Amino acid sequence: MKPRVVFSPKYAVDYSGHNFAARKFALTAQALAPFGELIEPSEPSRDDLLLAHDAVWVDKVLTASLNAADLKRLELPFSPEISLAHRLCVGGTILAARHALEAGVGLHSGGGGHHAFRDHGEGYCALNDIAVAILKLRAEKKIKRAAVIDLDVHQGNGTASIFAGDPDVFTFSMHQADIYPDKKEKSSLDVELSAGTTDPEYYDLLRRHLRPVMDFKPDLIIYQSGVDVWEKDKLGGLKLTERGVLDRDNALLETCRLHGVPVAVTLGGGYGPTPEDTARLHTNTLRLFAGLGPAKPRSR
Ligand SMILES: [Zn+2]
Repeated sequence: MKPRVVFSPKYAVDYSGHNFAARKFALTAQALAPFGELIEPSEPSRDDLLLAHDAVWVDKVLTASLNAADLKRLELPFSPEISLAHRLCVGGTILAARHALEAGVGLHSGGGGHHAFRDHGEGYCALNDIAVAILKLRAEKKIKRAAVIDLDVHQGNGTASIFAGDPDVFTFSMHQADIYPDKKEKSSLDVELSAGTTDPEYYDLLRRHLRPVMDFKPDLIIYQSGVDVWEKDKLGGLKLTERGVLDRDNALLETCRLHGVPVAVTLGGGYGPTPEDTARLHTNTLRLFAGLGPAKPRSR
């Protein structure tokens, strides 16, 4: 059976020259299309969004009526079209999580909105698809416990905040210490990295800290696989090679397989020199999790 890749062409809205090039989602999905089956998500209901967000924020997003302060924090333009893209991304992560429970792995060519809090959006993330997906599947009693493994270069502050005090969700974030967000939230486990961290240091830290996540015995893992850890990223300051990013993904995949935990992959951040570069790295990640064998990295 061809691997299923969740994606909607409606994700690729034009943010006109903004750092956040939504085109990368479409480029990644196109690269996977010859090998997989692209599946479009449906929109989540208002009640679904209320599982992780408060009503005032949900209604602002649904009606695309963000005020100046909201837009400043979101750092993105907003419109009905952009609102729909963000809502569909929530539906996409819910669907990828369902695929993970059915088949062991779920693939989303989008999602990873880890900076969205219960009552506001932040850092390009209007809605927290990761949190909604976990809370939706938990409400349906498909899972009891879940873990979020967030390896984006930025801390998963929104996710940490939404799940603070929830004994059934383990949030793990490994991120660069001295970049956005200035004020870090408290995840179940945070590993802070210095600028300039290289492949071997990163790999050792990751292997060591995956253990407590697995000890938690989650029924589902949602992976935020941001590729802004790459050495050529415009926003991140780590020094992971393209090969190092793949090794990171492989460490996670092997660990999930070893422990028999279903994993849903979301893309998250990535701000390479061009959207094509970023999409190539995201494609590497999804190919690996799809069992399509390692893509050929360009450089070591
Ligand atoms: Zn990021």
